[in-house]
Amino acid sequence: MELRPTCEHCNTALPNDSTEAMICSYDCTFCKTCVDTILENVCPNCGGGFTQRPTRPKSGLARNPMSSTVIHKPIDFSKFDALKAKNKTIPPHLR
Ligand SMILES: [Zn+2]
Ligand SMILES: [Zn+2]
Repeated sequence: MELRPTCEHCNTALPNDSTEAMICSYDCTFCKTCVDTILENVCPNCGGGFTQRPTRPKSGLARNPMSSTVIHKPIDFSKFDALKAKNKTIPPHLR
């Protein structure tokens, strides 16, 4: 999987050893604060839920470093509100 360096919405840094990094099944990456308080466990890109991003061990990081590409795409609430309303009441594994 791709280890992305920041939260897509608020741009906060999410290094490999962060315990705040959350990912969806497509590696869309957000901080835990955004997932809990803004996204309510609905990915704005795919509609899926999030899980905590695993930490890559240092030995693996040497061969497969983190992505250096910052994806900063703040949520477009005019589109996201409808998706969130539709998905947030359905458990992620049933969406
Ligand atoms: Zn965030
Ligand atoms: Zn996603």
